[in-house]
Amino acid sequence: MRADGRPLTEPTDHPSSPGTALVVGASLAGLMTALTLSRAGVHVTLLERSDDTGRTGAALQVPDGLLERITGLPASQVPQPLAPGIQTWFAVHDALRAAIETNPIIELHQNTTVRKVGQDGQSAWVLTSDKQRITADLVIGADGHRSTVRRHIAPDHPDATFAGYVIWIGIADESAIGARRWPRDVAFLGDNDHTLLGYPLPGAEGSREPGSRRLGWAWYDSSRNGLLRSTGSVSGSVVRHSLMPAGIPSGTFRELAAQARELFPSPWKDAILDSIERRAVIGTPIAEYVPVRLATGRVAIVGDAAHVPTPMTGSGFAESLHDAEAIADAITDFGTTSTALHSYENARLRSARNLVQSGQGFSRSFARRAA
Ligand SMILES: Cc1cc2nc3c(=O)[nH]c(=O)nc-3n(C[C@H](O)[C@H](O)[C@H](O)COP(=O)(O)OP(=O)(O)OC[C@H]3O[C@@H](n4cnc5c(N)ncnc54)[C@H](O)[C@@H]3O)c2cc1C
Repeated sequence: MRADGRPLTEPTDHPSSPGTALVVGASLAGLMTALTLSRAGVHVTLLERSDDTGRTGAALQVPDGLLERITGLPASQVPQPLAPGIQTWFAVHDALRAAIETNPIIELHQNTTVRKVGQDGQSAWVLTSDKQRITADLVIGADGHRSTVRRHIAPDHPDATFAGYVIWIGIADESAIGARRWPRDVAFLGDNDHTLLGYPLPGAEGSREPGSRRLGWAWYDSSRNGLLRSTGSVSGSVVRHSLMPAGIPSGTFRELAAQARELFPSPWKDAILDSIERRAVIGTPIAEYVPVRLATGRVAIVGDAAHVPTPMTGSGFAESLHDAEAIADAITDFGTTSTALHSYENARLRSARNLVQSGQGFSRSFARRAA
């Protein structure tokens, strides 16, 4: 069913449309891909397993005119404009969702989990957990680092691999930390086992006025692999889930607070301590995936389903945007066909592999220090 209770239907083609696509996963890569495909005239059904995709609050570098670029709309018609520069994951997500909601040829179905993907020469389909089969010309997997669609494309290489460290993430309000000097730029701090990436952010309403801004922080920590394994967050070489605040032991919060006092200067230390006090911290074990394929026949993958770099590359989001644009360009040239997806793979595979490999040097040396 749709979020609004209407039954789940297949995307309907129109005589003037190049065809139909199912996009699995309505987070940033899925939302951007749905928008670029619709700009190319494709009728899209987006399938999302959760009703709230609230991710880890990473900060993302937003290029100038992002919404205009992917929707093809003039700035005056973009429903929720997004300023260029560093933005929170949530700000980017909300702006993309607003663009989806006013788009007449994109249908979003939440609470819909895809279990399996199939195809023949004429079409591709998904099977959902409530046993519905939905068919379209193409299926695009934007279902993240533990992608189900990837299993169809690369059954011999289906899993991203744990990189050997966790990132603790939080955001603090300027009013709560009362910084005397506000940082102008991204900061890199830390010692051998701990690297901190700090970034100044606008306020929740996009304001950059003093008093209403925020500080985001991402703390790379290679000393907590025992905790990740004992909580089941990492099992073998596979990352299973993030550590949400309720699953982080009080003792770990106390240790993090003590280490933050010792390792980091103000205002970053204050932002971390404020987040810890509010229990507003998420720990994400980092995974990496170097793709061997991006498409098979009428099924393709984009975003973290296709390539998972360490966030240290700062490029997962930009790379997802390139995927979304490349797949729409290929469909503009070849229609909703397997030829288009083959052309997409040719355009993107080398760059996606290079991106992930560029971060593996950092991951290997950072994780090794903890081994
Ligand atoms: C801790 C962290 C920090 C990061 N920092 C940065 C950064 O600084 N800069 C940067 O550029 N990038 C960063 N990234 C990466 C960036 O956030 C992602 O590359 C980008 O958001 C694209 O993600 P995605 O949409 O492909 O995947 P996801 O955000 O994982 O979304 C996948 C979606 O698919 C849904 N889904 C999964 N399986 C199914 C299924 N079977 N059926 C239906 N729906 C399904 C999920 O619910 C989810 O909504 C970071 C990532 C992490 C984890």
